[in-house]
Amino acid sequence: MLTLLAIVGVVSHRTILGLIDDSQWVSHTHVVLELLQRVSFQVTQAEAAVRGFVITGNSSFEAQYLDDKQNIWPLISELRLGTSDNPNQQKIVSRLESLIKERFIVMDEGIQIRKSGGLNAVLAQSKNSRGPTLSLQISALVAQMRGEENRLLSERNLREQKSSSRAFVVALLAVFLAMAAVLGSVLLIFRDLTRGREVDRLKSEFVSIVSHELRTPLTSIHGSLGLLASGLLGGSAEKGKRMLEIAVNNTDRLIRLLNDILDIEKLESGKIQMHPLPCDSSELLSRAAEVMTPMAQDHHIAIHLSNSSKIINADPDRILQCLTNLLSNAIKFSEAGGIVIMRATPAGENLRFEVADQGRGIPLDKQEAIFERFQQVDASDSRRKGGTGLGLAITRSIVQQHGGKVWVESQMGKGSTFFFTVPLANTAGQIPTSESNSDAPIITATQ
Ligand code: ADP
Repeated sequence: MLTLLAIVGVVSHRTILGLIDDSQWVSHTHVVLELLQRVSFQVTQAEAAVRGFVITGNSSFEAQYLDDKQNIWPLISELRLGTSDNPNQQKIVSRLESLIKERFIVMDEGIQIRKSGGLNAVLAQSKNSRGPTLSLQISALVAQMRGEENRLLSERNLREQKSSSRAFVVALLAVFLAMAAVLGSVLLIFRDLTRGREVDRLKSEFVSIVSHELRTPLTSIHGSLGLLASGLLGGSAEKGKRMLEIAVNNTDRLIRLLNDILDIEKLESGKIQMHPLPCDSSELLSRAAEVMTPMAQDHHIAIHLSNSSKIINADPDRILQCLTNLLSNAIKFSEAGGIVIMRATPAGENLRFEVADQGRGIPLDKQEAIFERFQQVDASDSRRKGGTGLGLAITRSIVQQHGGKVWVESQMGKGSTFFFTVPLANTAGQIPTSESNSDAPIITATQ
């Protein structure tokens, strides 16, 4: 396509140059025709001036004649130059020049005779004069040259018309080709995009199917291992028990990973719909704290929460999922004895949830990246802390589907605070804020 466009470009360039050339030839012919006209006029005017002088003897006629005589030669030179492309016309110009010279010699003689012998002497001499014959020959030559130029003019006009039609067709073709090229590129890009989308769809479908297929047998293996590890089925070797516990933990992690993969795939492909309804923020915070209490106790972390209540318009199960994700991270990445604070404060038309810890902190250059899938500050985090690397990606997806934002502020060694916003419900019917309980620690998981 590009080669074709280049060829059309070259052809149109040449066609346009040809068109310009043809038009120049047409105007050139007009110039020659005008010159012929002026030469003929100049001779006729000189003859009239001589006639005037002969009849009246008035010197102003002689002055006019001398003027005309002087003006004719530059015109002849121009004519010679203008017809330099045509050898035939050049020959005629030479002939014309010598005839005009002769004609002026005859006219000079006439003036001299009038001056020396008066009108009668001129009349007597005029019977033998070559003047009229020369005039006729000059007119005939001018007519011959004009005929040739008119022939050239119609030839060149025809050529110019053909060139302009050709230029029009070539320009039209170039426009069509350019349009086809643009259309073709758009179609190609569109096809690539569709292909890319199709590949993405197949990939997420594949991930879903594999995760589903793995989850069922894994859950049953997990159950059986759990039973064995509990010792209910007999068998008491300490080492064996320890092995079983490790196996249970690992299957546990795998099931969590599969659940998270399925969750994020469904969230991002829009298969999970949010069901927003008015719900109480303090209830959500309490439930999240309750759910995470066993984990907090394991890690010797205290959970404090600000118990002011606001009504938000959100899917309660999904907001709970976000809060437990953030809470679980805050507990995992804190030292024993640390405190995690959860609160929610209004911010314009939104409610802003916060989960703040006093843990290890997150370096500035990772504070955006950790919201992407499988991004961790430390590559060993998932193994050592038991995470999947998907919790924050899931949280972000849920928050965005509520029209909110999620972000983190953190200082290394001092702790991190995760924030996310969700829209407040219409203020009418909102449960009044219970300021009295604000910031009261309702759960303390330290021993
Ligand atoms: P994971 O399951 O690994 O916790 P997440 O997506 O929830 O996956 O978190 C991604 C990573 O972000 C974590 O592995 C950890 O490196 C970092 N991170 C998240 N929360 C915190 C936190 N409160 N303090 C320190 N690092 C955190």
